[in-house]
Amino acid sequence: MSYIIGKACIGEKDGACIDACPVDCIHEGEESLYIDPETCIDCGACVPECPVAAIFEDEEEAIAAGELEAVENNYKFFKLKYLP
Ligand code: SF4
Repeated sequence: MSYIIGKACIGEKDGACIDACPVDCIHEGEESLYIDPETCIDCGACVPECPVAAIFEDEEEAIAAGELEAVENNYKFFKLKYLP
C-alpha cells in the first residue's frame, strides 16, 4: 500500500511534496511525480504540501476517485505491477 499521486499532478509537478517526504520516495517522471510504493511509509507528510490536492491516501481511494490509470502508471514507473 502506498500514497498515490493522481492526474492533477500532470503538467503541474510543483515538487513541494518531494521536499516534505522523509524517505525521499517521490520521483519525477516526464509528465508527473510518482511515489515509490515500496519505499513510502504512509506518513501523509506530502498531502498538505500539494497545491493541487493530487495525492490520495492509498490505491483504493485513488481508484474510487477514477484514478486507476494514475495507480497503474505509478507502479509502471517503478517497473512494478499493481495487483489489487
Ligand atoms: Fe513520502 Fe510520507 Fe508521502 Fe509516502 S506518505 S510519499 S513517505 S511523504
